[in-house]
Order: sequence, then structure tokens, then C-alpha cells
Amino acid sequence: MPRAFLPYGRQSIDDSDIEAVAQVLRSDWLTTGPAVDAFEADFAACTGAAHAIACSNGTTALHLALAGLDVGPGDVCIVPAITFMATANAALYCGADVVFADVDATTGLMTPDTLRQAIARVSGARLRAVLPVHLAGQCEDMAAMREIASAAGAKLVEDACHALGTRQAGRPVGACDHSDAACFSFHPVKTIAAGEGGMVTTGDAALAARLRRLRSHGIERDPARMEQGQDDPWWHEMQELGWNYRLCDVQAALARSQLRRLDRFAAKRKALAAAYDALLAGHPLVKALVRTPDCDPCLHLYPVRIDFAAADTDRATIMRALQARGIGSQVHYIPVPSQPWYRRRYGDQTPPGAAGYYQQTLSLPLFTDMAADDPARVVAALDAVLGG
Ligand SMILES: *Cc1c(COP(=O)(O)O)cnc(C)c1O
Repeated sequence: MPRAFLPYGRQSIDDSDIEAVAQVLRSDWLTTGPAVDAFEADFAACTGAAHAIACSNGTTALHLALAGLDVGPGDVCIVPAITFMATANAALYCGADVVFADVDATTGLMTPDTLRQAIARVSGARLRAVLPVHLAGQCEDMAAMREIASAAGAKLVEDACHALGTRQAGRPVGACDHSDAACFSFHPVKTIAAGEGGMVTTGDAALAARLRRLRSHGIERDPARMEQGQDDPWWHEMQELGWNYRLCDVQAALARSQLRRLDRFAAKRKALAAAYDALLAGHPLVKALVRTPDCDPCLHLYPVRIDFAAADTDRATIMRALQARGIGSQVHYIPVPSQPWYRRRYGDQTPPGAAGYYQQTLSLPLFTDMAADDPARVVAALDAVLGG
């Protein structure tokens, strides 16, 4: 019997998830309520964060974090050139501009060196925030990044959308030991799914209170925080301009149920990645993902680097040939500065490391419900289509 199409990523849903969602649907509360509170508490415990603020998706998590840190017009944020565009867009939503940092051509990550180079290119504006992206689930040395950002007077906001379950320097990503905030996504291809959902973690209580306000129109309901001091039963205050970026209880119940299985999901992803690593060791054309030191990643993606020229082919041909064999693949990512909107705004600012990474990268299937022998099947298909 032919096997089902293998996508590059997908969610893993079981009966406990369905029951958790059904329970909320049978309850009185559908919007932001007890399930969101419970999910936030579990997420904070699991990441070691002091505060966790749920929101509607990873993009709004990034926007909230930057807005909460007062990023605004006249400011600059540094974003690596290889990321999902939402990282850069969040700065633009705040009225700020982006300076794109280069990445290491073998990991796709901004490094302490490429961050320093980007800081040197910020001129005539205030550098307000640096946003390291934990591409594929790997991290650079966050203590080093923090030191460089702080010396430049900038906040550090981690785009951790790929990195739930990753540990760096022995600590979970999201603990915010060396950052002002970390942002997560629960889009179905990410490590846990909420349908759509996001989270900001932070160690700063005042920032956490502000993020809770900003995610719900800027409205304050805590009597202790009122500006006008009224204690009428209906009284609430819009103290700043916020948005409706709330997560609802239906989504939170699903995400919380998924979070309970994070250890299992991470173990499975690690086993699959180890299988790929072993299959690709010494491969003449396909290089396994290069790992960063002191990081124990729960990989969200399994990007490999392929020397398409040496194989006398190109990426589109290989992707189509894999597709025909029932195997999905994807490119993470087209350099953000080369996107038409950013090119019109800044000119094409794609730096050389990002261009080199982009040229060779291809993400192979990696998700929790893959079969143990799927990596071997994928690598065999890749060998066949590369003519190896
Ligand atoms: C998925 C993702 C986002 C955005 O998350 P959404 O939940 O889809 O809005 C931001 N940054 C990175 C690196 C992502 O992978």
C-alpha cells in the first residue's frame, strides 16, 4: 500500500486534545477565561518564565513585546535577514525601521559577530531592540547577545517561535535569563498547536502587566492600577492604545493539552533528527544541519544544505521530484530584505551569509507523528532524485 504524502511539518492531535476542546465548548466560557489562565500558568512553569502572556498568534506576540518595550517611530530594530517576515514586520507595525543582520551561512543564525556588524550600520537613529531568531529551534549564545545588545542600549527580544522545548546553556528557552521577552507561536507546524496562538514570556512584572493591557485594547481592569481611581462596579479604563490580540479558551485548551505532551514531542523530534544526522554523515552533496555549541535543540525544522550546482541540478527540480515521490519539502526562508516590500523600502540589503544560506537550504520533513523509518525513506528519495 503506498504511504500517505509526507508533508514537511504537521500537527499531532490525539483524543485527549479533542476532549480538552470539547470540555471548553460545553462550558460557559469561550473567550479569554480560565483555560487561558491555566495555559499561561503551565507554560510559565514549563519554560521557567516568571510571566507568560497568551495572545492570538506569534506575530501579535512579537508586536506586543516590541510595543510593550516602547519601540516606536525613529527607532531601529535589528532582525536577522533569514527569518519569517513577521519578525521584521513587528518592528514596522510599531513605526520603527529594521536593520538586517547577516547570518552564519551554515546555521542561518545571527551570531555575536554579525550582530556587532549590524549595530555598526545603525546610524542617525536609536537602536531600540535586537531580535535573535532561534531558526529551526537552535540558539546562539544568548548571554553574549545580551551583552552586545545592552552595550548598545538595546533591549533583547527572542523570536522563539521555532524553539519551544529547546535548552540553551542548560536552561529552557523562554526563561528569559538573558532577554527582556521571548515570543512563541502555536501555528500547527510549530512544536505545539493551538490552531492559531502565541505567547510572550518575560521576567519583568511591569512589562507583563502592560502586555496584558495591550492585548485587550489597552484596557485596565485592576482597581489597584486605575488612573482615575473610581471604584464603580462598571469602571474600567483604556489607558493606552492597544489591540484585540487575545487568545480564546477553545485555542488555549488545545494548546494546554498539547503542552502536556511536550516532553514526548521533543523526544520524538530529537530521535528523528538523530536519524537524519546519521544518514547524512559524510554525504557528498547533502550536509546535515550544523549544531551550535551549548544548545540542546528541540528542532522545529530539519534544514539541510545541498550543493545543487555540484549535483548539476537546481532546487526547484529537486523539490518537484521529491513531491512526485510523496515527500514535501520547503525553503526557510527567502531572505526578508529581498521581499518586494522591503526591497522597495530599503533597497535589497541581503547580506552575503544570508544569500549563501538561502542558496543551499532545503527543509526535509520533521514532525512528531513521522514513522521512525521515514528519515531513511526521505534520504533514499533525495539520493535518487539527486542522481547519487
Ligand atoms: C511562525 C513564526 C512567526 C509567526 O507566528 P504566527 O503564529 O504564524 O503568527 C514568527 N516568527 C517565526 C520565526 C515563525 O516561524
